[in-house]
Amino acid sequence: MECPIPVTTTGPAVPGTAYEPVIGLEVHAQLATRSKMFCGCSRDYWDAAPNSHVCPVCLGMPGVLPVINSRAVELTVLTGLAMGCTIPPRAKFDRKNYPYPDLMKGYQISQYDEPLCVGGALEVDVDGEPRTVHLERIHLEEDTARLLHRDDENGARSLLDVNRAGVPLMEIVTRPDMHSAQQAVAFLRALRQLLRYIGASDADMEKGSFRCDANVSLRPRGERALGTKVEVKNMNSFRAVGRAIESEIRRQRAALEAGERIVQETRGYLEASGETAPQRSKEEAHDYRYFPEPDLPPLLLDEGRVGKLGAVLAELPGARRRRFEQEYGLTPDEARTLTESRERADDYERTVHLASGLSGIGDRDDYPRTVAHWFTGDVARLLNTLGSDAELRDTQLTPGHVAELAGLVAEGTITATTAKQVLDIAFESGELPQSIVQSHGLAQVRDEGEIDRLAREVIQAQPKAVADYLGGKESAIGFLVGQLMRQARGRADPQNAARVLRRHLDG
Ligand code: ADP
Ligand code: MG
Ligand code: ZN
Repeated sequence: MECPIPVTTTGPAVPGTAYEPVIGLEVHAQLATRSKMFCGCSRDYWDAAPNSHVCPVCLGMPGVLPVINSRAVELTVLTGLAMGCTIPPRAKFDRKNYPYPDLMKGYQISQYDEPLCVGGALEVDVDGEPRTVHLERIHLEEDTARLLHRDDENGARSLLDVNRAGVPLMEIVTRPDMHSAQQAVAFLRALRQLLRYIGASDADMEKGSFRCDANVSLRPRGERALGTKVEVKNMNSFRAVGRAIESEIRRQRAALEAGERIVQETRGYLEASGETAPQRSKEEAHDYRYFPEPDLPPLLLDEGRVGKLGAVLAELPGARRRRFEQEYGLTPDEARTLTESRERADDYERTVHLASGLSGIGDRDDYPRTVAHWFTGDVARLLNTLGSDAELRDTQLTPGHVAELAGLVAEGTITATTAKQVLDIAFESGELPQSIVQSHGLAQVRDEGEIDRLAREVIQAQPKAVADYLGGKESAIGFLVGQLMRQARGRADPQNAARVLRRHLDG
C-alpha cells in the first residue's frame, strides 16, 4: 500500500535537531472460526498433536481447490464495521508468492489491492487522554505452518507443524499515527479488547493468535514528511512491543546523531538484550509477484449481509463503558474493569437487574455500585484463582448468587465479613446464599441481649485493653471490637459492637 504522506530519507542530524518518533503497526489476528480459511480442517492447532489437522488443501497438494470460509469473511467485516471502516462492495484474493519452508504451496492467499475493509479508526485511551489511531485497511489471508527449531543431541534442525497452515488470519494495518511506545501499546490493548468483545479473535499474544510488527521512523520535529522506516518483528508480549519500540527509537536517534543515515530494513527484537538486530535489508526484501488468485471468485458483499453484521455492534465496549459510568454511577476504573469482556458486562448488568427486584437492596439509589463492588472485589478475587480471563460461567456462581448475596448484606441479614465467607462457600458448592446462611448458622446476631452478653464477656476477658481504653487510648476499642467479632464468628455488626462496648465502658 502506498502511503499518502511524502517520504524522505532520514539523513544525518543537524546538531541540536529534536526528533519525533513515528510508528505504524501491522497486527495479525487469528479469527475465531471453527475451521480453516480454505478447507474444513479444525483451526484449533494449539493443543493438537503436530500435523493432526491437515488435508490436501492446507498441505498445498497440487490439483485441489480452496473454498472460502464465509465465517472468516464475516468476522473480518465485523471487525471493520466495529472500527468504522468502509466495506467496499467488491474484494478479491491475491497470491503472494515467496519460497519458504513454512509456506506449503509456495504462495500465500492474501489480499493485495482490494481488501475487505478500508480506512476506519480506533479511539484509544493513553493515560486518560483520548487519541485516535487511523487504520489503513484490514485484509484477510491464511496463516503459515509453524517452524520449530530444535538443537539437541540429534543436531540442529527445523521441524514443521502444518496444523497452523491455513488458519484464517486478518491483518490490521494502521496509519503511521502513533508517536511513542506507550501509544502503540495502548492501541494494541484497545484492539485486543475490541476483538475479544465482538468475538472475532481470542487475541492471545502468548499463543500467537495476536501478533504485531512495528514500523518505526524518526523525523525532525515539525517536519511533515516521514523518515526512513524500520520494521521490527518478533515480539510476543505487550511488554516486548513496548521495549522493542523504545530501543529502536533510541538506536535510530543515536545513529542520526552520529552522522549516519537510517537504512530501511527489517529487524528482529531480541528478548534477552531488549534490543533489535538486523534481519534483512530492503535489497533483500521479497518481490512477492502478487497476482489475482485464479482459483477463487471475487468476494461480493451485498448491503443486506453487511447490515446484519452491523446489528451485533449496537454497543461497543467504549460506549458501554461510558453508559456504565452515567447510568450506574461507576468510576471510570470500575466501568473499564466491568466492560473488559462482553460476558463480564452482561453478568454485571444481569445482576444489577436481579438486585433491583430485591427488597433491602433494590430500593437503594446506589445499588448498582454495590453490585459493582462485589464484581470488582470478592468475585474478581475468586475468578482470578481460575485464571486471568475466567468468567462466572466457568464457576458455580451465577448473577443470581451475587444479587442475593448483596441483598442479604444490604438488608442486614448477614454482615460484610460473613458475606465473604458465604461467597466462598457458594463458589465451591453452587449453593444459594440464603440457604448457606441457614445451613451454616451465619445470620447476623441482631439480638441486643446477645451482643450485650458478648460485650460483657470481652470486657471481662481483656482487662489490659479495657485499662488502655479507659486511660485514653482510643484505639483499644478496635481491639475489643475485634474480640467481640471473633466471639460472634463474624456475625455481629462491628459498628453496633463498638457502640455497645462503649456504652459499657463509658457508662
Ligand atoms: P510496506 O509497503 O513496506 O509494507 P506500508 O506502506 O504498507 O509499507 O506500511 C506498512 C506499515 O508501516 C503501516 O502500518 C504504516 O503505517 C507504517 N509506515 C509506513 N511508513 C512509515 C514510516 N515512515 N514510519 C513509520 N511507520 C510507517
Ligand atoms: Mg505492508
Ligand atoms: Zn486442511
